[in-house]
Amino acid sequence: MKPSRCPCCSESFSYSQLIKLQFSRRCPACRRKLFLTRESQFKSSIPPVLMLCIPAFLMLIISPVSITFYLLTGAAMTVLIVAVQPWTLEFTDKEEALF
Ligand SMILES: [Zn+2]
Repeated sequence: MKPSRCPCCSESFSYSQLIKLQFSRRCPACRRKLFLTRESQFKSSIPPVLMLCIPAFLMLIISPVSITFYLLTGAAMTVLIVAVQPWTLEFTDKEEALF
C-alpha cells in the first residue's frame, strides 16, 4: 500500500497525521484543503455501514441481546474503523463526486 501524499506539495503523511486528516482535511504542511478521491470516498463509506449492520446481525443470531451489548459492539467497531481507515485515505486537490 502506497503512503498517502498531499497532491499539492507532495508531503507524505504519517499515521497520526492521517488520523487528524480524517476530521480536518487540511494539509499540515501547505494548509490547502484536501479532498478524498472517488475510490477513497467509496472505501470510507463501507465501514460505517458495517458498523451498523454487524451489531444488528449479532443481535439477530445471539438473541436476546441487551442494548448495552449493541452499544459496546458499536463503540468497539467505531474505534476499529477510526484506527484502520487512515490506510484507505487518498487525496486529491479537486472535489470528486462519488457518483
Ligand atoms: Zn500539502
